[in-house]
Amino acid sequence: MPETAAWADKWSHLLLAAEWLTDLVFPPLCWCCDRVDVRSCQDCLRALQAAPLQMTARRADKLDREAATGPHEGKLRSAVHALKYTGYKELADPLAERLIHALRWLDWSFDIILPVPLHSERLRERGYNQSELLAERVAVALSMYCATDFVARVRKTEQQAQRSPAERKSNVEGAFEVVADVAGLRILLVDDVVTSGETLNECASVLRKHGAAAVFGIAVSRGGQS
Ligand SMILES: [Zn+2]
Repeated sequence: MPETAAWADKWSHLLLAAEWLTDLVFPPLCWCCDRVDVRSCQDCLRALQAAPLQMTARRADKLDREAATGPHEGKLRSAVHALKYTGYKELADPLAERLIHALRWLDWSFDIILPVPLHSERLRERGYNQSELLAERVAVALSMYCATDFVARVRKTEQQAQRSPAERKSNVEGAFEVVADVAGLRILLVDDVVTSGETLNECASVLRKHGAAAVFGIAVSRGGQS
């Protein structure tokens, strides 16, 4: 075996050993039922995939239409939380499936997909934008372009959940900046959770000021608490 190949082989064995030790000290837990030794057990994954769409759609101020695929409760809430806060990025797949089914049913007419952006500081902390993971999968399924850099979150906002409606509105005011030419585009915004709808609405508002022809918003779940 050539020397470099021998090193690569040793290195891969070392990595496997490190992974095994990490699993031993910190065993993986199911995102939902906390079953040990598996990050996503078949029972919970099947239950999530089987959860029916409970669509709520509405017209909201700056959005042409806005919808969520179900209430922010039960397995759906656990999955969104695990994707957003505890690094279970693999849940983007089943959650994006819900968005894809919903969008096929809604039949909205748009030509580009934008995830709701995270502030750069939060993106650094989390390492990824959960809305972007969802939007990318939706775009692949619908053969559309996912633009991750058309809108920037220029102001760090606090979580919307515990705020009054007036506070939610002022919390997101001036949070977004459009950094691309969106004139004439029909845009779909993708987010994980919609609470009051103010975040999607504010994002839609700046896109419209820059000439977007239409803006739709879709989220995995809808609820007062995120
Ligand atoms: Zn489980």
